Amino acid sequence: MKVVVIGSGIAGITFAEKYRTLMPDADIVLVTIEQEGYYSRPLLSRGFTKDDIEQTIILKSFGKLRESNINIIDSTEVIAIDRHAKAIEINGPEQEKVIKYDTLILAQGSAAFVPPPFRPFEKLFFSLNSLVDLKAMRRFRQPFLTQGNRPHWAIVGGGLIGCEVASDLATAGDKVTIFHGMDRLMERQLAEEDSALLLNVLQTSGVEVLMDQTVHGFAQKGDKVCVNTEATAEFDALIVACGFKPRTDLAEAAGLDVGRGIKVNPFLQTNDEAIFALGDAAELPNGKLYAYILPIRSQALWLANYLAGQEQNPWSPPAFSTKAKVHGFEAKQPYNL
Ligand SMILES: Cc1cc2nc3c(=O)[nH]c(=O)nc-3n(C[C@H](O)[C@H](O)[C@H](O)COP(=O)(O)OP(=O)(O)OC[C@H]3O[C@@H](n4cnc5c(N)ncnc54)[C@H](O)[C@@H]3O)c2cc1C
Repeated sequence: MKVVVIGSGIAGITFAEKYRTLMPDADIVLVTIEQEGYYSRPLLSRGFTKDDIEQTIILKSFGKLRESNINIIDSTEVIAIDRHAKAIEINGPEQEKVIKYDTLILAQGSAAFVPPPFRPFEKLFFSLNSLVDLKAMRRFRQPFLTQGNRPHWAIVGGGLIGCEVASDLATAGDKVTIFHGMDRLMERQLAEEDSALLLNVLQTSGVEVLMDQTVHGFAQKGDKVCVNTEATAEFDALIVACGFKPRTDLAEAAGLDVGRGIKVNPFLQTNDEAIFALGDAAELPNGKLYAYILPIRSQALWLANYLAGQEQNPWSPPAFSTKAKVHGFEAKQPYNL
């Protein structure tokens, strides 16, 4: 039995490790574009107040995972799925460009969502979705710090990630302005009273928050970037934090059913019985994406048990909650997930 996993986030790694313990003789191959090991994505939004984040964010090195007899192929992108041949095509330093599978696990996660009007300006802004993104932002920031200055960041989007990053940058001493399209922060997750509390906490930490903003686009002006709304404001750097987009391209090109995510049945199985999907990439029959650590871990453990023949019931989501990692903020009511 050869199981091939695409992706080394919590979904792919948790599955592979659990499946290894249940099936000591299985051939497990995990292909990932990542280079630096398995890291904690939630910690990305604490990437400015922790000096040693680039080391402490790594939960396990790929070398350590290989010791459990999981064949990790890193720095390698999966570029196609050939369902007929039951094989994936890869693009990386490995000589072998095709890997056969009996069972394929799609754990490719999600990318930052960039609204279509912003796409022509992609070179002008950062998004915070991966360790590579965080390192790029930290590299950009370093020369300001070395000269005893602080950059002024514009963040477009006052959702969960926008607020977390704003809070961490401000706590680290940077200047931050949030442009939010709605009339209150984190309006999807928080009750009105908690949005007001969050606004107060951010403003107290020095973050400027602009509500009801329609951002038309961006422009470069010397070494500054401009955010164009009704007025034009200049900043040292720009972050677009407008949500996430499940990575469905490979699945779609292979003819799998795709909606917002890769569609799966209650057994996390796609419309191809040899292919399963989980994590940020998967859309359950109720139309939901369970894009949080706790349910994803539950999916990964469940799937390993199911494929090892130790589980017969379908996956059901555990009770879970989340909270924004905004310094000094505690919501009074549960989040709407
Ligand atoms: C800044 C930030 C803060 C967050 N904070 C929280 C929090 O506090 N609590 C919480 O519950 N959730 C939080 N989340 C959400 C949570 O991190 C995600 O739901 C979870 O990490 C998704 O895990 P995953 O394994 O499905 O996908 P990912 O972690 O995205 O992993 C997918 C992996 O697949 C790789 N990959 C993709 N395509 C290919 C390909 N074609 N070939 C090879 N490799 C590929 C990617 O490089 C990536 O390593 C946060 C997310 C972010 C971005």
